[in-house]
Amino acid sequence: MFELENVYNQKVLLEFPQGITVSIKREDLLHPEVSGNKFRKLKYNIQKAMELGYTQLLTFGGAYSNHIAATAAAGRIMGIKTIGVIRGDELVDKYKDNPTLVKAEQDGMQFKFVSRTAYREKSSVAFLQELEEEFGSVYIVPEGGTNAEAIKGTAEILKEEDQVFDYISVAVGTGGTIAGIINSSGSNQKILGFPALKGDFLSEEINNFAHNSNWELIHDYHFGGYAKYNEQLLFFISSFKEKTGILLDPIYTGKMVYGIFDLINKGYFPPDSKILMIHTGGLQGWNESIKI
Ligand SMILES: *Cc1c(COP(=O)(O)O)cnc(C)c1O
Repeated sequence: MFELENVYNQKVLLEFPQGITVSIKREDLLHPEVSGNKFRKLKYNIQKAMELGYTQLLTFGGAYSNHIAATAAAGRIMGIKTIGVIRGDELVDKYKDNPTLVKAEQDGMQFKFVSRTAYREKSSVAFLQELEEEFGSVYIVPEGGTNAEAIKGTAEILKEEDQVFDYISVAVGTGGTIAGIINSSGSNQKILGFPALKGDFLSEEINNFAHNSNWELIHDYHFGGYAKYNEQLLFFISSFKEKTGILLDPIYTGKMVYGIFDLINKGYFPPDSKILMIHTGGLQGWNESIKI
């Protein structure tokens, strides 16, 4: 089983007025090839699949999905075959233009492209039966990778020594990463989640997995929705890179860090607050067309 070591420092990255400090945990540097929280979410899933005797793992995602990229790479490294059910049947003849899918294929992933309508039905019994008929017995990981095994993995992001932080902030997609962090946090700590998409369905999903109530979602920094961004966000990412040398992604971590800085400016945090931001990775998702 691959060991995922934290690469980070508890060092203060930036100091703000009133003694407020910000540190960052570099989950983006977890593995030389595959970055971030998706790997943590896969770790115990792959372990379980192998223990149960499965030889293939099937999952779902969009064309630029960090989860698809991570699943393909983890499958190659761990020696389990991977199948990706990809949203958008128009991609069948043009997926070679998509860097995420090209890399996933090089990592041995087999694709099944489905229409957006069929994709919406992906959790239905009929669709899953169809998949088993086509591919044989498969261990299924849900879209985004969030399930009980995933939360066991994301609970390993926080360590004992992180108890010194008052606030821990993380970008939120399906909620699996924040749920694990909540479960391994201390009750003196507050976990702030920044959803990268619009919608109020997340709290329920997080409550399904999280055992503590020391968390809050901040819905003001999705920049219009999933994968939406504007000049202001790109400018922020670029100046953060200049100041710290750390590249954020425009879909998840850029929005979260922007939100933290904005909240600091607005006086949200009490004096002397120690904030730990989790860099969950996602850098493979940079589209070549976005220039910063
Ligand atoms: C998927 C992803 C998230 C969100 O994780 P969830 O567990 O789905 O909430 C955050 N950051 C990055 C970089 C991601 O790829």
